[in-house]
Amino acid sequence: MASSQQRETPSPDDGRQAEINRADQYTIGWICALPIELAAAVKMLDVEHQRLPPPPGDDNSYRFGRIGDHNIVIGCLPSGRTGFVSASSVATQMMSAFRQIRVGLMVGIGGGVPSEDNDVRLGDIVVSHPNGQHGGVAQYDFGKARPDGILERIGSLNAPPNALLTALTDVRAAEEMDELNIVDYLSRLTDRLPPYAYPSKLTDCLYQSWYSHDGGRNCIRCDSENSVVREKRSTNGPRIHYGTIASGNMVMKDAIERDQISQALGGVLCFEMEAAGLMNKFPCLVIRGISDYSDSHKNDGWQRYAAATAAAFAKDLLYHLATTRINQIDPISQAMKQMASRLIRNSEMVERTNQEIGKTIQQLMILCASSLRCLVTSRKESDIWKSLQSVASCVIDIEPAIKEDVAKLVAFALQQYPIRRWGDTILALIATKLLDAKERRFRWTDLQIKRLCACPTEDDLLIALDTIPESLEEAYHQALATIPSTLQERVRKILIWLASSFREMTSREIAAVVSFPFVDDVLKICTSLLVTVIDGDTHETIKLAHFTVKEFLIVQQSYDESLYWYKFTAQLAHCCITDQIIHYVFPSSISFPKALRPYAEAFWLAHARQNDATTDWAETQLLVDCILKHDNILFKNWLRANHPAEACAQSPLYYASLLGLEVSVMNLWRELLPGGNEFSDFDVKIAMDLKLRLAVMLHIGAIRRWKRLKSRRKCLVGWDNCRSSETLIPHPIHGILVLPR
Ligand SMILES: [Zn+2]
Repeated sequence: MASSQQRETPSPDDGRQAEINRADQYTIGWICALPIELAAAVKMLDVEHQRLPPPPGDDNSYRFGRIGDHNIVIGCLPSGRTGFVSASSVATQMMSAFRQIRVGLMVGIGGGVPSEDNDVRLGDIVVSHPNGQHGGVAQYDFGKARPDGILERIGSLNAPPNALLTALTDVRAAEEMDELNIVDYLSRLTDRLPPYAYPSKLTDCLYQSWYSHDGGRNCIRCDSENSVVREKRSTNGPRIHYGTIASGNMVMKDAIERDQISQALGGVLCFEMEAAGLMNKFPCLVIRGISDYSDSHKNDGWQRYAAATAAAFAKDLLYHLATTRINQIDPISQAMKQMASRLIRNSEMVERTNQEIGKTIQQLMILCASSLRCLVTSRKESDIWKSLQSVASCVIDIEPAIKEDVAKLVAFALQQYPIRRWGDTILALIATKLLDAKERRFRWTDLQIKRLCACPTEDDLLIALDTIPESLEEAYHQALATIPSTLQERVRKILIWLASSFREMTSREIAAVVSFPFVDDVLKICTSLLVTVIDGDTHETIKLAHFTVKEFLIVQQSYDESLYWYKFTAQLAHCCITDQIIHYVFPSSISFPKALRPYAEAFWLAHARQNDATTDWAETQLLVDCILKHDNILFKNWLRANHPAEACAQSPLYYASLLGLEVSVMNLWRELLPGGNEFSDFDVKIAMDLKLRLAVMLHIGAIRRWKRLKSRRKCLVGWDNCRSSETLIPHPIHGILVLPR
């Protein structure tokens, strides 16, 4: 802890450049988003240090200095690029350039949320602090899609590190004893930078949330009759508020939305746009000076002063932060390495699209820029290739090497495998056939060698050589062609499930799909070329044998089924699975197999939502609509378990909208419209915008919001017609956008 002596007389910035110039001496990372915040931060330093040459590959601008016993590096977001992504990339680069950074501060301005509980005013300071619900920062515009398709808000990001929370306790005690020096720091700053002084010429006016800005700079045309009457404060000094900060990617400038989101998050103190990009990778405290009220009246008159109050608080906090505590924390760069290894394991386990994998690798490589070496191998697919080229320092084409390896495999097989029994002429023929083939994938070569090894006579061998498939796809085709027609339907069903289920399936589950009492029979009817079983700790998992099998089975457009009975579109696969598991929530004479219940409960909705309104779906969709329309006990039970708040009787349209079943919404609405209505020809899109959905879920003024959207001429067309139509009155249509064709 710094001595009180030091606190009272901070070393003046006498322009002397200190000699510290080694990156490893900086333990505090201070991030700001705007140039005015950077200026306030630099002027708060006790001593400013000489700038270090920029680290290679790092395009951020850094300033250096000392406050109390702490050496600090200050980084600012690139001009004009605020938001999560920028903040996250500055933090990442800062951590890899300054490896001894232990904790961070995010210091700048924010939009306040005044409420009955919190008398937040312009110039006040808001500090992120964990409460029961959140870790101090809540990201409000980011949801995670659950398997049933509903967006679930990820409520909370990591709490600030303990060392900073302990320092906060000391700061709060000092505040009680009137021992904080914030006002002092502010007056010293404004002596040198007058624009950062308290803007006494401007008034701090808070308008009622329903009253929108009437135009003009600094609200000259706004009616002060509509302002909120607040008690006058005895001093102009900033007050400090501790609690939840809401972080999102859009500027908040709407008082009604501000209050709704605050209520949904259990009460927030301010809105800002960067913290959510930091909290889970850069352990930091967020400090915001309030420059506006997040409403339509916001202007920039208070920004400099607000930036100054936040920086002054940060300085006071650093004087209360013990260096011994800081030195006990592991540098963030070490924690980063652990995260990188987690990321690698994670991307191995989850099946992703090439694009997603490319993005993950990109992030990983930026993250590890100077602390890890990363080797990535992949097939030469254009999207992976493209995403890697921009970050990789060295790219090697290994295709020629693969050719050499395939040749080695063939040579080895001819010497060691059972085919070596045949005479030299035949062996030479085999070598030519295998090496001259266009197909050069290992899996293909390996499969052909195994096939030739299985031939008992020379004639069989010659026939096998004559019918060598030209490609891996051809090999799969050959294997499927041998399956007798009596089994084809069941094999197809198994392949559909293995290619399109939303999670890995156990052997027991797949056996239940085709009503086989014995699990082993699944493998018996599907060739091992296509399907493989992996023994896990607790159960067997059954999978397609190779990712190329899935690529082979799934086609973009419907095939002639008489030619290729085993190929299917992704749409058809989801329809087929829905058709089977919908009976979990649909009363029918079919008794539902016990083994499939957990999967059906978790994923029937996710499959049903894949309906793209094609004719394949017609019958299955009827069942889905039926579930919504009829008072169905199985569906009610499922609702009670998965959406307890929504289980009371609502209209079918409401449920269709709630569950994101777009085609059902369209069908049900069509049924409600009187014949010949001009809106009978429309497209319906479920509002997937989280803010709208939040409004739907919580039933907060959803209708009011729709009206406001309409007044902004954004999207709602025909609302009034629908509302006045008698048929629609008992059906709340919250959360639906109607787009004219
Ligand atoms: Zn105004």
